[in-house]
Formats: sequence, C-alpha cells, structure tokens
Amino acid sequence: MKLILLGAPGAGKGTVAKLLAEMDGSVQISTGDILRGAVTAGTELGKQIESLMKSGDLVPDELIMDIMEQRLQEPDCEKGFLLDGFPRTIPQAEALKGLLAKLGIELDMAVNLEVAREVILDRLTTRRTCSNSDCQAIYNVKSNPSRQAGICDKCGSPVIQRDDETAEAISHRLQTYVEKTAPLIGFYEKEGLLLTVDAAGPSETVLAAIGAKLAAA
Ligand code: AMP
Repeated sequence: MKLILLGAPGAGKGTVAKLLAEMDGSVQISTGDILRGAVTAGTELGKQIESLMKSGDLVPDELIMDIMEQRLQEPDCEKGFLLDGFPRTIPQAEALKGLLAKLGIELDMAVNLEVAREVILDRLTTRRTCSNSDCQAIYNVKSNPSRQAGICDKCGSPVIQRDDETAEAISHRLQTYVEKTAPLIGFYEKEGLLLTVDAAGPSETVLAAIGAKLAAA
C-alpha cells in the first residue's frame, strides 16, 4: 500500500505505520526518525537542524524534499510505503505530488488520524522513545511501558523522553501542526484521497477502517 499518514504529533501515525508495515511489507518512512538519526550521528544535516527540532520547529521544505526524493527511489519502496510525518506543509504536499507523478507512483490515500487535543497532550507527555536511532521503538509509561523500566524491549538501549517532548516544545509543535500541517486535510480532500479515522481508541479500529477503504477501492 502507498499511504500518507496525517495527524497531529501524538495522533499515533508511527504506531499505525509500524502495524501496517507488518501486514504487507510496505516500508514505514518517518522523516522525524530520519532527521533524529542525522542529529544523533552528528552529520552536517544533523548539525544544521538540531536546534530547530529541539524547539519543535519544522525543518526547511527543501531539505525534506531532497531527503524524500532519494528515499522514495530506494528499492524497499517498491512494495509500498507509509509516509509518517511527511508531507508536513502545503509546499511539501505539492512537491510530493510532482515527485510521485515524475516517478509514476500513485497514492492509495491520505489517512487523517483524528484525536482530541487533551488526548494528544496526555499521550505526548507520557510517550517514551528508544534512543537507538536504528530502532526508535515507541513506548508509553501509562499504556505501553517497556518490560524493564527505561530499557527497550527490542534492542536493549535506553528508552528516553525526546528533547522535543518537554511541555514547551509540545505546545509549540501543536501550534505548528495547526498552522502548517492541518491545511493538508483540505488539500487531500480536494485530491479525492482523504480518509478521516477516529484514532482516539485502539490501533485495531484504525487498521480496520483503512483495510475496509482499501478493499472497497
Ligand atoms: P516527528 O517525529 O514526526 O514528530 O518529527 C519530529 C521533528 O522533526 C518535527 O518537529 C520537525 O522538527 C522535524 N520534521 C519531521 N518531519 C518533518 C517534515 N516533513 N517537515 C519538516 N520538519 C519535519
């Protein structure tokens, strides 16, 4: 499947993408994971974007498009891809449309994961992430803790609270979402690609809604 996952930070895009990837071998592409990997590795790109990411600001569109143009042409994308955290602005969505047309790739849909702000705030402040940039497994101290506190079940690395998950950075990220990313809902509605799903409940409900829509297409 070839999907875009839309939704505020904490809506569950990463969790849903991982579950969908297990279903048919499509690859999860999280721009946030790629960028955090660059920061941890201390690459030129990483140094350039570190402070933007820490404060919850978006990385410039041109940098993201350079990354995605290459990433979408890697062989593992042939089976399908789940775009998690990209596109994030209207210019990115327009550039993606042009890129996909150039590559001859057709999207199945853009899934908008809808969750109330209070739920998002609770999820983000209790979320923990594996510090290993090749793993980045997601936990939640309330609903999905790691078996051993502070240690990743999958790779044994420390599980941490992300730098951009302080109360201040979270509030900034949510504001950025409303201003820059929420307009993508209207963009994909006009494209006839939008599926909005209530994502406040368990991930299975979201997967079922996506499966039904894909089956009906
Ligand atoms: P995420 O893991 O998706 O919440 O992304 C974490 C941070 O990475 C964001 O707050 C931005 O600073 C940056 N980022 C991730 N994806 C994008 C994107 N598509 N465009 C711009 N910045 C991004």
